[in-house]
Amino acid sequence: MHTQIYKERDDVNAVIHAHAPYCVALSMLDIDIENTLYATVSPIPITEFAMPSSEESYLKMKSFIKDYNWGILQRHGVVAYEKDLLGAFLRLEGMEHYAKMLIYAFSVKEPNPLSEEYKDKLMRFWGLIK
Ligand SMILES: [Zn+2]
Repeated sequence: MHTQIYKERDDVNAVIHAHAPYCVALSMLDIDIENTLYATVSPIPITEFAMPSSEESYLKMKSFIKDYNWGILQRHGVVAYEKDLLGAFLRLEGMEHYAKMLIYAFSVKEPNPLSEEYKDKLMRFWGLIK
């Protein structure tokens, strides 16, 4: 998975993988994480489950490597990648922090969705759509 990310992204010089507990917990709850994570961070895609340390892991995340710099591997962990190690680490730390906030929010009730208008504005702001 690490090698494939380096091959597919010329701008990436650091890939971090971790078994971040809050992100892994969220991945077990059948929550639409990508569409729930708005406002403080850009959406984070989540893969279907794949055997850890297998080519299957890479194949499950292949579709979002080009457009995203992070992802959650269902029931396994997270991966974050950037032009440098600090950038990748900050992404990973931010992803875990946001997952923690979501778990706190869901422990009270289902969070209110952000309006489609603001989702669209944020996606443009992050350069995920034109
Ligand atoms: Zn792992």
